[in-house]
Amino acid sequence: MSVVEAPAGRPTPENETEAEADVPNVRIAIVGTGFAGLGLAIRLKEQGIEDFVLIERADDVGGTWQANTYPGCQCDVPSHLYSFSFAPNPGWTRTYSRQPEIWNYLRNLATEHDLHRHIRFGHDLTGAAWDDARARWNVATSHGAWTAQLLVDATGPLSYPQVPRIRGIGSFKGTMFHSAEWNHDHDLTGERVAVIGTGASAIQFVPKIADRVGQMHVFQRTAPWILPHSDRPTTRIERLLYRKLPFLQKAVRSGVYCSRESFLLGFISKPRIMSGAEKIASLHMRKQVKDPELRAKLTPKFRLGCKRVLISNEWYPALTRPNVEVVTDRIDAIRGNRLMLADGSTREVDTIVFGTGFHVTDPPSAQLVRGRDAATLAERMQAGIQAYLGATVEGLPNYFKLIGPNTGLGHNSMVYMIESQLNYVMDALRVMDEQAITEFEVRPDAMAAYNAQIQSKLPGTVWMSGCASWYLDADGRNTTIWPDFTWRFRHRTRRFDTRAYTVRRAADVSAPAPAPAPVA
Ligand SMILES: Cc1cc2nc3c(=O)[nH]c(=O)nc-3n(C[C@H](O)[C@H](O)[C@H](O)COP(=O)(O)OP(=O)(O)OC[C@H]3O[C@@H](n4cnc5c(N)ncnc54)[C@H](O)[C@@H]3O)c2cc1C
Repeated sequence: MSVVEAPAGRPTPENETEAEADVPNVRIAIVGTGFAGLGLAIRLKEQGIEDFVLIERADDVGGTWQANTYPGCQCDVPSHLYSFSFAPNPGWTRTYSRQPEIWNYLRNLATEHDLHRHIRFGHDLTGAAWDDARARWNVATSHGAWTAQLLVDATGPLSYPQVPRIRGIGSFKGTMFHSAEWNHDHDLTGERVAVIGTGASAIQFVPKIADRVGQMHVFQRTAPWILPHSDRPTTRIERLLYRKLPFLQKAVRSGVYCSRESFLLGFISKPRIMSGAEKIASLHMRKQVKDPELRAKLTPKFRLGCKRVLISNEWYPALTRPNVEVVTDRIDAIRGNRLMLADGSTREVDTIVFGTGFHVTDPPSAQLVRGRDAATLAERMQAGIQAYLGATVEGLPNYFKLIGPNTGLGHNSMVYMIESQLNYVMDALRVMDEQAITEFEVRPDAMAAYNAQIQSKLPGTVWMSGCASWYLDADGRNTTIWPDFTWRFRHRTRRFDTRAYTVRRAADVSAPAPAPAPVA
C-alpha cells in the first residue's frame, strides 16, 4: 500500500458554493438494482450503513429479471444456486425458475429489507465524474444529482441490448424489437417473423412463439451446442422439507455448486474431455431432428463450451416445425419489409426479433464514468477492458465495478461471483473506517499483474479454442471469463488487500508513505 496525504487547500464544506451544497451527499451511490445492486444494499443495511442511494433507470428492481420478460425466459443454473446464499427461497416452484419467479424473489427482497426508500427509479445515470479536489464523485442522472464518497457501478454485464448493424435497417417497414425489450403489445399471431440470433435467449423464446406465428425464419450465424434440460416442477414435499429443514436446501445448494465446479475441469484443463458432453448433445439432436439436412445445419463446428453451453428440450422440436426455417445465409441488407440475403434470395417479414445479445465488452455505461484526469472508463479500457478483481480500476478512485471484466462464468452461478465481490466491498468499507482511509485507487502495477495472471490462464482453455463468442473483445482478448474455480475468486476477494492500492488518509491521521509492497 502507498499512502499519500490529502492535498493542502482541498475544498471543505465551508467553502462549497450554494449550488453545490444543494446537491445531496451520500457515502455510497450504487447504480443498478439487479442482483448486484440489491445484494450490496442488503449487506450495507445489515452492517447498519444507511447512507446510500440506489440509482435505477427502470421503474422497478430486478435488473436482468425485470428487463427480460420474453416468453420462456428462465435461468439456466438451478435456482437453489442462482439465488443469494443469505436469502434462500424454499418455495422455488421449478428447479430452474422462470423469469416472473426470479423477478418476484428480487422484488420481495427489496421490500423485506426496506430498500425502496433508498431507490430512485426512473433515474438514468448520465455521468459520474471524480472530483479530485473534493475527493468525491459527482453523480448526474436524468432526474437529479448526488455527490458520493464511493461510486458502485452495478449496471450489469448484460444490460445494454445489442442490435446488429445491417444496411437499411432503419428503413424496415415492420416491427422490430430486441428480446430484452420484448414488445408485449405486439401480437405475433399469424405473422411472418424473422428471429436473428440463436443464443441463450433465442433458444428460450423461439419454441414459445413458433406455434403462434405464421412463418418464422431463424437466422443462425453459428449453431450452438444444446444439452438436454433437466428442469422440472418441484414437489410440495420438497418445498415443505426445505422450509422445515433449511440445512437440506443448503446441502442441495452445495451439491449443485460442487457438480457445477467440476465442469470447469473440462473447460480449463482438458477441452478434449468435453467430447463426452458433445456426444450427449449430438444424441439429443439426433433424437429430435430426423432431417439430415437440417441436422447438418444445426451441428456446431466448435468445441462445446467455447460459447455458452445451452440447455433446452424444446429448441430442436421448434426448428422442425413446418412453419419454421433455419437460415444460415447472412442478411446483407433490409429494404422495406424484405431481408436481402447474401445468396441473392429474400425473405419478406412483418416483424424482426433480435436475439443478438448485449454490449458486453463495450458497455455504453463505461462512457459515463470519468475518473482522474477526466478520462472515461471506456477510454481507459481502450487497449482491452480490465480491472483488479473485476472491481477496481486504475484512475478511478473510490470506485467499484460489480461483475466487471473477467468475472463471467461458463459453468456456475453469477450470483456466487456477485456475493464474492460484495464481501470485497464490505471489507473495503471496514478497512476504510478502521484506518481512516478517505481515498483508495488500485495501483497500476497491481492491476497489470493481476490481469497478466488472468490472461496467462486462458490459452489452452475451451474459451480460446477458436470460436467467435461474446466472451472475446474486438481484438480477440477474453475479457469476460473468470478462467478458474469460483472458490478461488471467493478466496481472493475475502479481504480488501490494501497492498494493491494507493490510499489517502485525512491529513491528521496519515502516516508517512511506505515503499509499495509487491503484490502476491
Ligand atoms: C436472459 C438472461 C438470463 C440469464 N440467466 C443467467 C443464469 O441462469 N445464471 C447466471 O449465472 N447468470 C445469468 N444471466 C446473467 C445475469 O445478467 C446475471 O446473473 C445477474 O442477473 C447480473 O446482475 P447485475 O445486478 O450485475 O446486473 P443486471 O441484473 O443487469 O442489473 C443492472 C441494473 O443496472 C441498471 N442500469 C444500467 N445502466 C444504467 C444507467 N445508466 N442508469 C441507471 N441504471 C442503470 C439496469 O436497469 C439494471 O437494473 C442471465 C442474463 C440474461 C440476460
